[in-house]
Amino acid sequence: MRYAVISDVHSNLEALEAVLSSIEEERVDAIVSLGDIVGYGADPVECISIMREMEPVVSLVGNHDHASVGRTDISYFNINARRAVIWTMEHIGEDDVGYLEGLPLVGHIDRTVLVHASLVNPSEWNYILTGEAASICFDRMDENICLTGHSHSPVIFSEESYYIPREGKELELKKGKYIVNVGSVGQPRDGDPRSRYVIYDSSRRMVSYRAVEYDIEGAREKIIKAGLPHVLGDRLLFGH
Ligand code: ZN
Repeated sequence: MRYAVISDVHSNLEALEAVLSSIEEERVDAIVSLGDIVGYGADPVECISIMREMEPVVSLVGNHDHASVGRTDISYFNINARRAVIWTMEHIGEDDVGYLEGLPLVGHIDRTVLVHASLVNPSEWNYILTGEAASICFDRMDENICLTGHSHSPVIFSEESYYIPREGKELELKKGKYIVNVGSVGQPRDGDPRSRYVIYDSSRRMVSYRAVEYDIEGAREKIIKAGLPHVLGDRLLFGH
């Protein structure tokens, strides 16, 4: 099966639309979403509505989704993230809340495990930024491949090392276990402001990263107009 894997849309409608039209050209069998549909951006309702219509084969919950329906404590969020969560709570409807509440923490496709943050207590939203954090997650994996998001930075961890992937190249996940962070659609943080997603071919164990240009200025202006912290819009320009 050939999947398009998206994560961390973060209410960025311009980015989501650009990514979906790129995916249309990829002839995938299904779409997978690894969570954080909302938070930070100005279009939570529209992004949830697109996700619902699209019916990804798996759609997971992220920490901002959880927080926006009152299920995750926001005291550990930074001030701007917290303000965005509160703003999102005030702007989404009952149906949106119901959808977000129904999303699972962990999913599976073709001997591949899917999680927003880490398999180590998924609802604690631990980051996998180091080999040590990856190795604790590897210990929890019955499958050989884990697809994840949360840090907004594309990276592939093997059991020995890690690799920062470039877009376009097909990468074969050879023998052994891997954690593949697909990056963020709506708020990249690796210094490249383009939207990211991954094409994952489960039978060939291949991943290929995509980077998509979108109307960053449009998304930024909406954030500022909505009364959200300006920094949440400004950071889109730089991808950090
Ligand atoms: Zn996120």
